[in-house]
Amino acid sequence: MQTQTLERMESGVRTYSRSFPVVFTKAQNARLTDEDGREYIDFLAGAGTLNYGHNNPHIKQAMLDYLSDDGIVHALDMWSVGKRDYLETLEELILKPRGLDYKIQLPGPTGTNAVEAAIRLARVAKGRHNIVSFTNGFHGVTMGALATTGNRKFREATGGVPTVGGSFLPYDGYMGEHTDTLDYFEKLLNDKSGGLDVPAAVIVETVQGEGGINVAGIEWLKRLEKICRANDILLIVDDIQAGCGRTGKFFSFEHAGLTPDIVTNSKSLSGFGLPFAHVLMRPELDKWKPGQYNGTFRGFNLAMVTATAAMKKYWSDDTFERDVQRKGAIVEERFQQLAGLLSENGIPATERGRGLMRGIDVVNGEIADKITSKAFEKGLIIETSGQDGEVVKCLCPLTISDEDLQEGLDILEASIKAVI
Ligand SMILES: *Cc1c(COP(=O)(O)O)cnc(C)c1O
Repeated sequence: MQTQTLERMESGVRTYSRSFPVVFTKAQNARLTDEDGREYIDFLAGAGTLNYGHNNPHIKQAMLDYLSDDGIVHALDMWSVGKRDYLETLEELILKPRGLDYKIQLPGPTGTNAVEAAIRLARVAKGRHNIVSFTNGFHGVTMGALATTGNRKFREATGGVPTVGGSFLPYDGYMGEHTDTLDYFEKLLNDKSGGLDVPAAVIVETVQGEGGINVAGIEWLKRLEKICRANDILLIVDDIQAGCGRTGKFFSFEHAGLTPDIVTNSKSLSGFGLPFAHVLMRPELDKWKPGQYNGTFRGFNLAMVTATAAMKKYWSDDTFERDVQRKGAIVEERFQQLAGLLSENGIPATERGRGLMRGIDVVNGEIADKITSKAFEKGLIIETSGQDGEVVKCLCPLTISDEDLQEGLDILEASIKAVI
């Protein structure tokens, strides 16, 4: 396998190719093939961008048809059939059945673009600067979004320019299971001397992906929404990683019955791994002046075509979400057994997650790395998350076959046994 050019020319900023230093050629659903013809089961799935698998045939066909017809690929933010179909399908299959009424902003194509747009919209709408986010939250690395991202590695990469406009509060469980961290938020809001600038918005992940699969309790999320409503603060749910079915519902906040004021989606939104993001906002919040927030790549038509195909294929009824929940239960049970096995061997591991967004916290990053490296040797692509990389995280395609899921879990078990 030739890797010299890649190693020589690509900046040291590269990350995933360090964990998986092979050259991939092909992929189909949950399987990747490298240049030597070796196959891998993919429990990383483009960091959660491939919920419907690699090269999903239904989605790919829709894209090929659109291209064969000379459909508009780039249009700035002009209108196209691709965009109209996308908005209609989103309204009919996703928003209306869930009783949600949102306007849609198409920002630049990445997650952090959507977060930037969301927090700026909140500021414009409320006339306040502060955005509350939570410990271990990850919302992207452009300056505005970075001000709401906890991870020190990213925060230190600004060359000393301070990130401003955000305040961190403890996420659910941060102070141990007996402390409701929202008591602190409520107290600060009611204390004129508490030092917290009344925020325009709170931004939250219902399950923290990069932060280590930390799961906010349903009651905690409901209370957070209540506090926001009572204090005229907007609630932004960053569903970039947990959305698009990952937790077993299209939106992760459906589990708690929330109605966020603003929602961000990206990662799996295109359904095909294409760069694409949108911001959903309650219609009355749409205070933007024309072009006040812009970008050249706003609404990538090819991604809207694939996103539409994904919604039509998987979200016309609840068959798919029930299947995700079923597979989530399989992973949960197996991860609990694996956590038990680790614990019996002196590593007090725990399992957590929601739907197919699950992890095993093995307490330290070194052990987690050993497990994922061993897994890679044995043909499984799986990554870690958490502040110290201590959580082995399963983000397999939601469409993975039961056989591949079992095989991936078997490899993980063998890897854990090899490490303990
Ligand atoms: C990945 C992620 C982002 C950032 O998305 P990018 O496309 O990497 O900019 C923001 N929020 C959450 C919750 C994410 O998981």
